[in-house]
Amino acid sequence: MAVARVALPVAAPSLFDYWIPEGLAVEPGTLVRVRLATRRLVGVVAEVAPTSEVARERLQPIVEVIGNVPALPADLLALADFVSTYYQEPLGLVLGQMVPPLAATRAISSSARRVATALRLTASGHDALAGSLGRAPRLRALYEEWQRAPGSVLTIEAQAALPPHVKHAVRQWQTAGWAESVPRDAPGPSADGRDERVGAPLNPDQQHAFAAIGKARGTFAPFLLQGVTGSGKTEVYLAAACECIAAGGQVLILVPEISLTPQFEQRIANALPSRKTVTLHSGLPAGERLRHWRSAANGEADLVLGTRLAVFAPLPRLALVVVDEEHDPSFKQQDGVRYHGRDVAVWRARQRGVPIVLGSATPALETLVHAQRGRYGWLKLPLRAVAPSRLPQLVFIPNRDPDALEGIGAPMVAAIDARLRRGEQSLVFINRRGFAPSLLCSSCGWQAGCPRCSARLVVHRDAGQLRCHHCGHVERLPRGCPDCGNVDLLPLGHGTQRLERALAGRFPGARIARVDRDSTRRRGAFAEVSDRVHSGDVDILVGTQMLAKGHDFPRLTLVGVLGADNALYSADFRATERLAALLFQVSGRAGRRDLPGEVIVQTDFPAHPLARALAAHDYESYAEVLLAERRAATLPPFAHLALVVAEALRRDAVDAFLAAASDAGRAVAHDESVAVEVFPPVPASMPRRAGLERGQVLAQAVERGAMQRFLPRWRDAIAALPGRRVRWALDVDPLGFA
Ligand SMILES: [Zn+2]
Ligand SMILES: [Zn+2]
Repeated sequence: MAVARVALPVAAPSLFDYWIPEGLAVEPGTLVRVRLATRRLVGVVAEVAPTSEVARERLQPIVEVIGNVPALPADLLALADFVSTYYQEPLGLVLGQMVPPLAATRAISSSARRVATALRLTASGHDALAGSLGRAPRLRALYEEWQRAPGSVLTIEAQAALPPHVKHAVRQWQTAGWAESVPRDAPGPSADGRDERVGAPLNPDQQHAFAAIGKARGTFAPFLLQGVTGSGKTEVYLAAACECIAAGGQVLILVPEISLTPQFEQRIANALPSRKTVTLHSGLPAGERLRHWRSAANGEADLVLGTRLAVFAPLPRLALVVVDEEHDPSFKQQDGVRYHGRDVAVWRARQRGVPIVLGSATPALETLVHAQRGRYGWLKLPLRAVAPSRLPQLVFIPNRDPDALEGIGAPMVAAIDARLRRGEQSLVFINRRGFAPSLLCSSCGWQAGCPRCSARLVVHRDAGQLRCHHCGHVERLPRGCPDCGNVDLLPLGHGTQRLERALAGRFPGARIARVDRDSTRRRGAFAEVSDRVHSGDVDILVGTQMLAKGHDFPRLTLVGVLGADNALYSADFRATERLAALLFQVSGRAGRRDLPGEVIVQTDFPAHPLARALAAHDYESYAEVLLAERRAATLPPFAHLALVVAEALRRDAVDAFLAAASDAGRAVAHDESVAVEVFPPVPASMPRRAGLERGQVLAQAVERGAMQRFLPRWRDAIAALPGRRVRWALDVDPLGFA
C-alpha cells in the first residue's frame, strides 16, 4: 500500500502520512484534500513512499485529489524546500503560499457567466472619437494611447482599475461599436511579434542595458539596473521581455504594489499587444487569481506581473525575472511565512538558470554591495530618458519659521503660490496621515494615549475621532481633558488633513486633493485622484508616501517635503536608508517633461550627508556613508541577522521566555561552535501593542553559513521552551527590529 507524505498548512514542521486509495493518481506536487483531526485541509504531496512508520490502522486515506489544479512542478517543490530551510518556516506553510486560492473552485463557473474581455479600438472608433474628447482627459489619454499603438489592447485588469466614469464610457464605446472584444486566448493582430513596440527607441544607455540582459539569456545572471527616476528602466524591462517572449519564454515581473500603479500594467499591455499577460496579487478575486495561476502553470501566459506572492507562480518556460523597485520594503512579508520576495526571486533565477534584473533608483544596500563586488552586473541609466527634462533644483529650509503656515515654511508657501499663478502643480509630502499625531492638554500636560499600545492616539478631526494607527482602536474626540477638565486641548504636530485644511484656508481658489490611506480606502479612489491630477484638475496635492511610487504627473513642478527629520532620530537601522529612497523618489516627481522642477525640503540638518547627496542627485555618495556605518556596527549587508520576536499578555512571561531563548541561542552557538552572537532580550520599540507586551532577541553572524547552521537548532530549542501563553516568531533577515 503506497503512502503519500503530505505537507499541510499548519505550524507543525513535519509531514503527515496518508494512504493512497486504489485508483487515485498521486505524485509529488499533487494537491490533495485530507482530514487532520476534525479539520479538512488541502495539502501538497511532498513524497510518495512504499510504507509508513505509522501503523496501518492509524493511517487515514486521502479524501480526494484536487483535480482542477495541476500538480506543483518539481522546481516549485525545490523552491519551497529552500524557502522552508532558509527562513526556518514549516514546509506546509511555505507550500500553502504557492497553492492558489482553492475556495474559488466553485466561484470560477459563476464568474464565467459575466464575460469580461480585453478591448481594442475599431476603425470606426478611431474616426468617431477623434477630436471629440476635449473635456474628458482620461478618455482622451486612453484614446491617444490607442492612436499611438493601433491594435493595442486594454486588458481586463486595466479596465478594472479604471475609475467608474471612464469604465462606463468605455462600455458605451463598446455598445456603439467603437471598441471591440479581443479574446484573450486568440492570437492578436501581430502574433509573429513583429510590430510589438516599446514606445520610443532606446537611448544608448538603455540599449547597452538591454543588450547585456539579452546576451545573458539562458544563464543565471543577476543585474542591478540603476537609473534615476524617469530614466526609462521600464522600457529596458519591456524590451528584454519582448525578446524573451519572442524566443518562446515566459517573463515574471515583480512590483511592490499593483493597485498604486495601474499605468504600469497598461504600458505592458501596450508594449505586448499580442501577448498574454496575467496579474497575480492578493487583491484579485479568488476565481480570477486561480485562473491566472493556471494560465501561468500551463504556459499560456507569456508574462506574469505580480506582487511578492507571484514569485511562487509556476512558470514552465521561465526565461527572465524582473524585480522593479527592488529596494521596496513591501517585498518582505512581515507575518505568516516571513520571506523576502526579491531574495527568493534571485534564488529562483539561479535555480532556473535565467537572468534576473533588479531595478531601482535607490538600490538596497545589499544589492548595491553585490554590484560593487562584481557579483551582480551593474547597468546604469544616468540620464533621464525624456531629453529636455532636467533634474530638479533642491532647496533646504529650516523647520522653525515664525511665519510658517501650520508647519509649512514661508518659502514653501510662496513657492506654491508661484505655481498656482503659473498654472502648475505642487505636491506637499508628509508621511503622517490624520490631522495631528497627538492631542495635548495645555493645562496639565495630559496626552491622549492608546489604552492597548504604547503609542499616542492620532487626531482625525473630520471624523471627530482619536485613532490608534497601530491597533485600530478608535474613540471619540474628547471635549475636555479627562484629567483636569480643561477644554483647551491642543492637536500637536501635523498630518495630511491638517495641511490640507491650512492650504485650503490660505489658497481658497485652489483645487486641493489629499492622498493617504484614509482618502483612498474606497476601491478605485486612488485611480480617480491620479486621473484628476493628470488632467490638470488638481493644483495642490497633499499626501503620504503613496504618492512616491512611480507616477508621472506632467505639470508637477514643485515637491515640498515635511517631517523628513523624524527618520534621522529613529532607532531603526534602516530608517535613514528608507528616508533616502523616499526623498530621491519624491524629488524625482518634480519636473518630468518640459517644465523644470524644484524640491524644497524642511530640515534642521541641511549639512547632513543625505541632504548633500540629494542636492547633488547622487544616491551612491550617501549609500557609501550608510555602508560605512553598517560596516562599523556589523549590520547588514556586512552581517546576517535573525530576530526572535515574542508577545504575551504579561510582561514577565515575555521577558522570561526571551531570556530563555537568548540563553538557548548561546548554548547552541557554543555547541555547534559557530560564530553567531546572541544578544540579551530587549523590549520592542513599541513595547506594548494591541494589548500585548512585546520583546525581541537578536542573533548576528558575519558568515551566512554560520547563521544557517545555527538557526535550525535554535528554532528547535525555542520551540521546546515552556511558555504556552507566548506567541513567537523567527524572522530571518529582518528588515528592522520589532
Ligand atoms: Zn488636563
Ligand atoms: Zn493601539
